[in-house]
Amino acid sequence: MARLKLVVVGGGITGLAAAHRAVEVARERSTELELTLVEARDRLGGTIATEQAGGFLVEGGPDSFLSEKPWALALCRRLGVEHRLVRTDDRFRKVFVWRAGRLHALPDGFQLLAPTKLGPFVRSGLFSWPGKLRMALDLVMPRGTNDDESLGAFVRRRLGREALERVAQPLVAGIYTADPDDLSLTATMPRFFELERRERSIILGLWRANRRAPQTGTSGARWSLFVTFQNGMEEMVTSIASRLPRGAVRLKHRVDGIERSGRGWKVVGGLGPALEADHVIVAAESYTASRLLRYVDPALATLLGEIPYASSATVSFGYRRAEVPHALDGFGIVVPQTERRSVFACTFSSVKYPGRAPDGHVLLRCFVGGALNEGILESDDSALIAGTRNELRELLGITGEPVLSRVARWTKAMPQYHVGHAGRVETIERCAAALPGLHLAGGAYRGVGIADCVRSGEAAAAQVFGAL
Ligand SMILES: Cc1cc2nc3c(=O)[nH]c(=O)nc-3n(C[C@H](O)[C@H](O)[C@H](O)COP(=O)(O)OP(=O)(O)OC[C@H]3O[C@@H](n4cnc5c(N)ncnc54)[C@H](O)[C@@H]3O)c2cc1C
Repeated sequence: MARLKLVVVGGGITGLAAAHRAVEVARERSTELELTLVEARDRLGGTIATEQAGGFLVEGGPDSFLSEKPWALALCRRLGVEHRLVRTDDRFRKVFVWRAGRLHALPDGFQLLAPTKLGPFVRSGLFSWPGKLRMALDLVMPRGTNDDESLGAFVRRRLGREALERVAQPLVAGIYTADPDDLSLTATMPRFFELERRERSIILGLWRANRRAPQTGTSGARWSLFVTFQNGMEEMVTSIASRLPRGAVRLKHRVDGIERSGRGWKVVGGLGPALEADHVIVAAESYTASRLLRYVDPALATLLGEIPYASSATVSFGYRRAEVPHALDGFGIVVPQTERRSVFACTFSSVKYPGRAPDGHVLLRCFVGGALNEGILESDDSALIAGTRNELRELLGITGEPVLSRVARWTKAMPQYHVGHAGRVETIERCAAALPGLHLAGGAYRGVGIADCVRSGEAAAAQVFGAL
């Protein structure tokens, strides 16, 4: 029987998915796998962190994953936990945009960057008439010629400044906690790049695509666009961890370096002796991978170190329902940067998903910081809570005391795909391919969401066995 020693560095969803896939493939191939997953913190999950307190279910990090990208959902099926998933309450799919002192519903049919339904768009008070006409220019405008440009430049060019400032920027901030003028269009929203190439007009392209295939999640689909677990995202972590071999996981084990060792590798760090491995999957942040590999391949380490990360925090509040004057008839609010607030998004968590707040209560989750406002994270927790409550008074008219407050800080946790990212990742992958037995995975490379991280981790595991 073939024998393989594998070390996975990092116990976030990427490392867990990689380790789990390795166990699956080893079983299929009758390979004896000696697996060690090392994690610096005292718990698994990385940015996935669920807390249950006083009948509330608070997600410090991600609150859901995208079901449209198949990898996380497929993993849940293989784990036998698909029945634990819950869908969003799509009666309340609406998103509000805060502008000039009031909340405007994002017009029905607005797809991230552009409108697809004429009536709701024309009637919306979110845009001025010149702004609406400028967006309509997309219908007649010629194609652009850039290979890659920033998301901000793309939206400004095709749809105008209002579309960028009032919708694209705040929605993108909600996903990437990023500045759209830095983000690469091809790395973050390749669909819009391709739409322009293929159809010329973004609005027409979206409209034709909608006619061909009704949007998933709106009617009849088994799963809504975003799904989560009944007891929160940490269920995904515990489900995977429970399927790893006993003793495979080592917590509080911070890796300090990776070295070559004969035909294999040596993983240095933690309290015990170095771990010898035939293969190593580095599923930590890319700046950590850079540090760990600095003596193995300095050029690769430099490229890895060049991927920037943003920091943010979530500030969650539980309120008695009677204390919240707003109808909360949506999934939440996004706040454009032009409004100069510290909260850039607020999810109505207990409206979006069932079981997030006890009867007669609501759970609201606000985002602060991100690439455009990292300075705010220097404030301590009590200042973040006070500042966020002030803004909730303005956004939703809440003056009462919360029954629960929580702050979760995510320092350098969100990779930023700047212009040129796709090219940098290709070079990184070429360099890594020249290091047999060394594999990189995680949200830094080809997708920041949980579904992408699962794909990345599982692909790294497949490479391990492909090399056998
Ligand atoms: C606030 C927030 C909200 C988000 N919301 C969503 C959402 O709703 N849906 C979605 O799909 N995605 C969301 N994301 C993105 C998603 O959470 C992440 O992309 C994903 O969880 C990253 O997983 P990962 O395993 O690649 O990295 P991480 O979760 O960062 O895990 C990396 C792990 O490596 C460990 N590590 C680092 N250095 C070392 C070392 N030297 N030795 C050992 N271990 C080490 C770390 O401790 C960590 O546990 C959100 C992210 C944030 C920050």
